[in-house]
Amino acid sequence: MERVARILEGDPHTRLGVVLSACRGVTDALLDLCTAAEKQDATIADRLEAVRKRHVVIADTLLDGASRDEYIAILDQDCRNIAGILETVRMIRSASRNVRELVAGFGEIWSTRLFVRYLQKRAKRPGKIAWVDARDIVVVDWGSLGPTVRWDESRANTARLIPQDAGTLIITGFIARDAKGLQTTLGRNGSDFSGSIFGALLEAEEIHIWTDVDGVLSADPRLVPDATVIDSLSYNEAMELAYFGAKVLHPQTMAPAVMKSIPIWIRNTFAPEKAGTLICEKPDSKLAVKGITSIDKVALANVEGAGMIGVPGTAHRLFGALRDNGISVILISQGSSEHSICFAVPEAEAEQTEAVVRQAFDSELRQGQIQSVEVTRGCSILAVVGDGMAGSHGVAAKVFGALGTAAVSVKAIAQGASERNISVVIDGKQASRAL
Ligand code: ASP
Ligand code: MG
Repeated sequence: MERVARILEGDPHTRLGVVLSACRGVTDALLDLCTAAEKQDATIADRLEAVRKRHVVIADTLLDGASRDEYIAILDQDCRNIAGILETVRMIRSASRNVRELVAGFGEIWSTRLFVRYLQKRAKRPGKIAWVDARDIVVVDWGSLGPTVRWDESRANTARLIPQDAGTLIITGFIARDAKGLQTTLGRNGSDFSGSIFGALLEAEEIHIWTDVDGVLSADPRLVPDATVIDSLSYNEAMELAYFGAKVLHPQTMAPAVMKSIPIWIRNTFAPEKAGTLICEKPDSKLAVKGITSIDKVALANVEGAGMIGVPGTAHRLFGALRDNGISVILISQGSSEHSICFAVPEAEAEQTEAVVRQAFDSELRQGQIQSVEVTRGCSILAVVGDGMAGSHGVAAKVFGALGTAAVSVKAIAQGASERNISVVIDGKQASRAL
């Protein structure tokens, strides 16, 4: 918190919106409490007390006098409320979704209430410092793709409730409200999403995501020691890379910023002097390839049969069956002969995938129109990402040439028409070598 305060005090902007997450591990601890209550675990009270104590210790370190006492009084009241909720859960032996969402959100309330007092006490930021409860502002609907923001309502709340005279707003990350007014969250790690939502609502000039790495890296540094920080990325490149394992930013996080063309900086809290990575609409960069990433623990499924040739609807049935069973497909490739379709799924779903596909094409398999359904486990996907690949030539040749020289055999290939991503499926054992 001291570090964060110093970063904010060093920022030249007079108006800042600061979205904070919970203290480390608190959200997990709160969710665990719900699960423990369902199991009628006897340690609930002690565990809740441990979470409370952590905040008391921080408050004792950073605050004093009435400010400290006030903070603890609200914290204690919250903990009493949580204990009541957990007691109910213990009796029912089941925590509903609403209960979990409510309990999980206290971490952000506690961290921001504490931090706002601390920043006020230091008195080094220009202007007024105000606390903003995101539940009063952000309204979301939860659908199958996660939370979607109700922008009109959220904008109206912003205009009505955000103090115009405040220089620094300390905002709770992660939590929001649904259309019925019930407290909800934006999903795990949702504070980055909150940051982007508030960036859009407050029409920010820039969004800075403060994390614990120097920026988005060109490859996983554990596998590629000479991986470097990418200085700039387009939104699209960042989304491709985010999907393929560069876990710095969830693609969903970017959407509100993209909508308003707000540049996003990825910065390191522990090295604020470093520039970080800029993610924006049109970065000026001459690199054709920005990053190479991989996803491990993938299974490659191959459906093969002469009966599929020229028959419309095979892919529809195949992927429809996977959808009906909640299996998400990572990569798809079908050659123009239409003799086979192959696709990749998470390895954990390999068995179910095989069963689902066999069932969907049961009669075709028996009649021989489809000859085989094969699922190979232990694969990895390597993805080469960069906007600059579009319209340029020779990148694919370089990728496959390098893999060939390294004796890495390629099992499947996919490149979308955007030409922004070339993906290859390889044996997982060769993944770090390939990378
Ligand atoms: N505290 C929330 C979580 O742990 C949100 C966040 O950290 O971004 O998921
Ligand atoms: Mg977090």
